[in-house]
Amino acid sequence: TLLVRLNRFISMCGITSRRKADELIKAGRVKVNGLIVKEMGYRIDPSKDVVEVDGKLLKSPKYRYVILNKPCCYLTSLAEGKDGKKSIKELIKDIPERLYPAGRLDYNAEGLLILTNDGELANRIMHPKYKLPKKYLVLVEGRVDTETLKNMKKGAELEDGFAKPDSIKLIKMEKNQTTLEVVFHEGRKHIVKRFMAHFGHKVKRLKRTAIGPIQLGKLPPGKWRDMTQQELKALK
Ligand code: URA
Repeated sequence: TLLVRLNRFISMCGITSRRKADELIKAGRVKVNGLIVKEMGYRIDPSKDVVEVDGKLLKSPKYRYVILNKPCCYLTSLAEGKDGKKSIKELIKDIPERLYPAGRLDYNAEGLLILTNDGELANRIMHPKYKLPKKYLVLVEGRVDTETLKNMKKGAELEDGFAKPDSIKLIKMEKNQTTLEVVFHEGRKHIVKRFMAHFGHKVKRLKRTAIGPIQLGKLPPGKWRDMTQQELKALK
């Protein structure tokens, strides 16, 4: 079984930060299985140890929901990286729970990944039936002219069927490249790259900035954070 540091367990239960949890422990306000524990670094088994703070029982959180900003050149895989490639596994090695990515990003794509051990929610996020819109910032080669943009809005017949973005917007036009914001509510493999290629534009950079109500925001590349209660509520 997975043992968890007591301070971490307390913070995972959402009542306070890890630092404040240390203070509670030091102050003798935390009991494990009925006995006060003041030892820093004390580990518990969340599946059977009973933790109380000020006499109030802490309920073990069943699930963990994490947001990761995947940098370019990491595999969305929890296996060890293949062929010397790095995987997101090393970015989340501090998380004791076994989490799975709800949806994927290509090796050279970046941005928002949701990781969880809540299989039901993961399926919901990935299943096209729920039409969760996924927003991407896309840098393509060449200038996307007005006519092409109009055609992109109408959708395109790809080799595995029709694909139509929920929305597509010009963000920035440069001499030899264009930045677009595109939203798809489906998750077919390489959908954005294949869609752009259909119109003759190679994708140079691809970053997912939102999945439904969850925004990547200012989370730095390679960093993760737990979802807030509000975010989780909005997603469920
Ligand atoms: N579309 C792509 O082409 N790649 C991704 O990683 C996600 C969407």
